[in-house]
Amino acid sequence: MQYEAVIGLEVHCQLKTKSKMFSDCPRDYFDEPPNTLIDPVTLGLPGTLPVINREAVALTIRTGLALGCTIPENAKFDRKNYPYPDLPKGYQITQYDMPFCIDGQLDVDTSNGKQSIRIERIHLEEDTGRLIHRNDGIEEYSLIDFNRAGVPLMELVTHPDIRSAEAAANFLRSLRQIFRYIEVSDADMEKGSFRCDANVSLKPRGESKLGNKVEVKNMNSFRSVQRAIEYEIKRQSKLLDAGERIIQETRGYVDALGETVSQRSKEEANDYRYFPEPDLPPLKISRHQVEQIKSDLPELPIEKQQRFESTYAIPPLQSKVLTETKQRAEDFEETVKLVKENRLAKLVANWFIGDVAGKINTMGRADAELVDTGITPAHIASLVLLVDSKKITASTAKDVLEFAFETGTTPEQIIEEKGLGQVTEGDAIQVVIDNIIDANPKAVSDYKQGKDSAVKFLVGQVMRETKGRADPNTTNNLILTTLDKLN
Ligand code: ADP
Ligand code: MG
Repeated sequence: MQYEAVIGLEVHCQLKTKSKMFSDCPRDYFDEPPNTLIDPVTLGLPGTLPVINREAVALTIRTGLALGCTIPENAKFDRKNYPYPDLPKGYQITQYDMPFCIDGQLDVDTSNGKQSIRIERIHLEEDTGRLIHRNDGIEEYSLIDFNRAGVPLMELVTHPDIRSAEAAANFLRSLRQIFRYIEVSDADMEKGSFRCDANVSLKPRGESKLGNKVEVKNMNSFRSVQRAIEYEIKRQSKLLDAGERIIQETRGYVDALGETVSQRSKEEANDYRYFPEPDLPPLKISRHQVEQIKSDLPELPIEKQQRFESTYAIPPLQSKVLTETKQRAEDFEETVKLVKENRLAKLVANWFIGDVAGKINTMGRADAELVDTGITPAHIASLVLLVDSKKITASTAKDVLEFAFETGTTPEQIIEEKGLGQVTEGDAIQVVIDNIIDANPKAVSDYKQGKDSAVKFLVGQVMRETKGRADPNTTNNLILTTLDKLN
């Protein structure tokens, strides 16, 4: 049977605020020692009352606006009750039926082209503490670190619009990119500031009724999200093919096995007894505030990408790479500004996508940027201008970049010190050409017999002799004239 996968994502993202969701307790960013970032509100001590973090609300609305959401005028917080050691109060303050943002969308790349994924809602809640499970060989026990408890946590829920594991991973990549562009979160899956649960079901292709869904948890990278969903699709189709029913349950992904395992079934699901949070007033979100937040939004990745295409005539794929991070896009545009002419933007783009990207990669950190390499936009601009004015050849420029990378010296200085200036004068090249032709009679006779490859060979020899400093066009022309004179 041919099945179609149906996937909906629930994404949790910690917001970049200074303090926690409901008190002025500082929040953790740097793996602080356990239980050092806590206060009576975090611990839910008797007599404490929550106070809403304005910045967290603003960042959530900012996110909603970046994703095309509607911001309802009325919002409120609710209590979600469940007893668990990582939850000091015995309930989590969250938003049940009146979230800050509803009805957004995000377009993602899939193997069948761009697809629009609808976002059902984005709401705000508080993170839980962290449980650390230990086994010292004598007994098993768990430790609790409340540093994370009360950190502002945004939850985004998609409609079940995603149709493949790859599209799910791309949706998350795109979302992370936007969260970083608009600076609401560092959205780092490995550090746990960006987490995702995937709901997966199958239905016969063409059928509109959705099948029973399975919720998959515990993925800590985009790759594991994709693998977990792929595994789940295979597991469910095998069951359906065998005539079995899919039971609605929660499953955990085990990275080492590449498999999902059952955690709890729907019958064991909690009844959270949601009710409006009595310690917090319902909120009115003024249209003025929404407009203000909207006008403060930076250019989004897709807008930047399209602008690079139209302003600098850069092809879509390259433009996508250049706008991958806001910093990279800014470094690129600063370099274009320094070369002063949009005509040279394509050359600048080639540097950023080729050699410069290579150097950034050697830094060995996923979040490395140009600044980490010691190379500056000014260096790259000089190289582009030096090649454009034929002061150095493209191949010399690559060497110069290498030296600049190693030493931080400017290209002009390197060229001066190493005598790398291009040999453009015909006379100087001619001397080299005459010597090469003398030394290669075989190539000369090949040429006479009509083998054009002989010219290529001779150009290569001249390049080698001049260490790539001869202008290839001039060299080619001079060789042809010299050979023809021999006839
Ligand atoms: P629940 O009542 O279990 O919370 P919701 O309807 O609120 O379920 O949906 C939670 C998430 O599951 C959403 O991301 C939604 O898109 C997704 N989802 C809902 N139904 C299905 C389904 N049949 N298959 C896959 N995903 C689904
Ligand atoms: Mg739900």
